[in-house]
Amino acid sequence: QAVFRSNLTHLLELMGSGKESLIFMKKRTRRLADQWALAAQRLARKLGGAQRDQKQILVHIGFLTEESGDVFSPRVLKGGPLGEMVQWADILAALYVLGHGLRVTVSLKELQSNLGVPPGRGSCPLTVPLPFDLIYTDYHGLQQMRQHMGLSFREYRCRLRVIDTFGTEPAYNHEEYATLHGYRTTWGYWNLRPQQFMTMFPHTPDNSFMGFVSEELNQTEKQRVKAGKARNMAVVYGKEAGIWKGKEKVLSILSAHMEVHGTVFYESQRPPEVPAFVKNHGLLPQPEFQQLLRKAKLFVGFGFPYEGPAPLEAIANGCVFLQSRFRPPHSSLNHEFFRGKPTSREVFSQHPYAERFIGKPHVWTVDYNNSAEFEAAIKAIMGTQVEPYLPYEYTCEGMLERIHAYIQYQDFCAAPAPAPPGAGAPKSPFVLAPNATHLEWARNASLAPGAWPPAHSLQAWLAAAGRACTDACLDRGLVCEPSFFPFLNSRDAFQKLQVPCDSTEWEMNHLYPAFAPPGRECLLQKEPLLFSCAGASAKHRRLCPCRDFRRGQVALCRACL
Ligand code: UDP
Repeated sequence: QAVFRSNLTHLLELMGSGKESLIFMKKRTRRLADQWALAAQRLARKLGGAQRDQKQILVHIGFLTEESGDVFSPRVLKGGPLGEMVQWADILAALYVLGHGLRVTVSLKELQSNLGVPPGRGSCPLTVPLPFDLIYTDYHGLQQMRQHMGLSFREYRCRLRVIDTFGTEPAYNHEEYATLHGYRTTWGYWNLRPQQFMTMFPHTPDNSFMGFVSEELNQTEKQRVKAGKARNMAVVYGKEAGIWKGKEKVLSILSAHMEVHGTVFYESQRPPEVPAFVKNHGLLPQPEFQQLLRKAKLFVGFGFPYEGPAPLEAIANGCVFLQSRFRPPHSSLNHEFFRGKPTSREVFSQHPYAERFIGKPHVWTVDYNNSAEFEAAIKAIMGTQVEPYLPYEYTCEGMLERIHAYIQYQDFCAAPAPAPPGAGAPKSPFVLAPNATHLEWARNASLAPGAWPPAHSLQAWLAAAGRACTDACLDRGLVCEPSFFPFLNSRDAFQKLQVPCDSTEWEMNHLYPAFAPPGRECLLQKEPLLFSCAGASAKHRRLCPCRDFRRGQVALCRACL
């Protein structure tokens, strides 16, 4: 049984010391300690006496190891990607506060000693018992484990959880399929269950959603922040000078209305190339950056970086976030940043989560090439009052709730649902909804014991041609739930939806199950690892498993706790 912890002193010891990155992470953990403690109390109350198993967990932060080049630590003081460190600090805090047994490694040597691999041995050829129920790591760590765990890696890979900011889609994860169909990338093809990858924002429902936290203001602080806002103060998002390049036009409009502040890193001998009218504070320590956001009215994105933590922090501190719309969308096909990443996701603005899940009045997404639209937005924003806002899933309590549910209920070591079921296929446990638009779980159908999410939160919809399941579900106020695909992967499901199948094929294709209208073919999935919410084709109407979700906690269905 796991017991909530509210004192983080021991965690700070576990995190080790020395590296700049660890110093940054520990400062953050210390600063957030009270919020974590309060969140633990609240969640304990909410869950009542619910059983929570205590797990032994190894957290191996691969990108911080010397062996993978540790490219980030030297950049921490220069504004390098701090988002990753924010996230790892919060993951450690969440696991610790939930009461699990925790080990943290940031070097290959420590990893080997924790895995029971004798030092100096490149790889341990035998299957040694793994003393951990779960291992959280990243792509670098995964590589190191494959090299140094020998056969145990295969045996125990179901216990892995891979922190992967931008996500890994099933088509890129399946080695044979990726190789055959041009989805091979630098990072993909690990043949893990796609939900073992955990993202920073809930953008790829094929993966799980790890997230991070932002500091939450109490009522008094909110009032104080609202009263202290400077109506004409804007802070530009981004710590690197490159983001200002080519932005002269928007900057001149912005500066005509507002005082422009920046937090761009610079070395004293060489100030950064930002316009003279910008009040540049240089890279600020995190608490001072928060103070700056508390005063500012507007946080403005110039298109990069994509999907970082800072816009959420700005909104939580009562700023409006203004960002550019991308038409055409950015993706691995047309943008260097996404090239080689194991995803085809199209990004329609700098921060799709802010646009889709938060929106106005906190988030404005406009066309930066249209000066009139940009200027109108600035004027409108200056005239509005907004409350500081933080979605529940990014509060400490929200993160604890989600990670608790994943640890308690996700099990990737159990055999995957069989596909294809073949001749003796079970009848689909669905019925056509009364308005005949979609399928619902039949009330009298028996539930697989322990199945999570519980299947009665499922609705099955036939998407329009060219529409991915991710979007088809969102269109209906639902979210795609890949664990439900096996229930739909049958001719029977199509028949219940009154879709006429002239023929049925089983194939390996990440778009299946789907219906191809020209030949009235029903196409079923042969490879469970390829069940995918992502992906669309003009020729197919995909059969999509959608589910409901909790307000402010999209990772969990209403009956998921
Ligand atoms: N940040 C900071 N000082 C600054 C600007 C930002 O400490 O001057 C922090 C900020 O609080 C956020 C983190 O840097 O939590 C990462 O921010 P960003 O969204 O820029 O993501 P990144 O590109 O660094 O991953």
